[in-house]
Amino acid sequence: MLELLLHAVWPSVCPVCGRLGRAVCRECIEALVEAPPPFCMSCGAEAPCAEHPRGAVCLAATSYNAMNRELIHAMKYREARRAAIMMGEVLAGRFGKPDADFLVPVPLHKSSEREYNQAELIARGAGRVWNIEVRRVLEWRASVGRQAAKESSARYLPKGIVSVRSRVPGRAFVIDDVFTSGSTVMACSDSLLKAGIAVAGAAVWSKGGSY
Ligand SMILES: [Zn+2]
Ligand SMILES: [Zn+2]
Repeated sequence: MLELLLHAVWPSVCPVCGRLGRAVCRECIEALVEAPPPFCMSCGAEAPCAEHPRGAVCLAATSYNAMNRELIHAMKYREARRAAIMMGEVLAGRFGKPDADFLVPVPLHKSSEREYNQAELIARGAGRVWNIEVRRVLEWRASVGRQAAKESSARYLPKGIVSVRSRVPGRAFVIDDVFTSGSTVMACSDSLLKAGIAVAGAAVWSKGGSY
């Protein structure tokens, strides 16, 4: 009922097909899935890569394209929480359950104006399908913007820029919305490892492109 009322005030539109009445259609999200080959978390090359043959591997539901750009943009600016959770469900449905004890979303930077963390919602959707709990164990330490970090051409962010706020036993699996240079996922992975938490791998909704 409340949802109907809200729709009357702010009608939602699927950013992919333009259909009215919902944030995004599941079919539209599923149609975006391309499942590019698993890639090296350190450099983004197809796994196993020559440079990091034993490095952790990252999965992606899809790669950069115009529709994805629309979708991610809509998620950021139209607060489509439901869409992000659905993306996580679709992502998880595409791959087998990882050998991990919990999912760790890339944290939202302190200076972010967004009210919610896209990566965390994707993790929640994926966690539901895989039956793995989501743990917010990471936080940004310095005031480097998350977006700035993504756009940065530097492959590695300064050491210790992400810190572990709670040490939990078990193997972590990192979740983010987009993988560009890989610096964000690597910074998270590095701090987990440094805190003695094993990293089983990572998954993102989309590989490549800048959103
Ligand atoms: Zn649609
Ligand atoms: Zn590599």
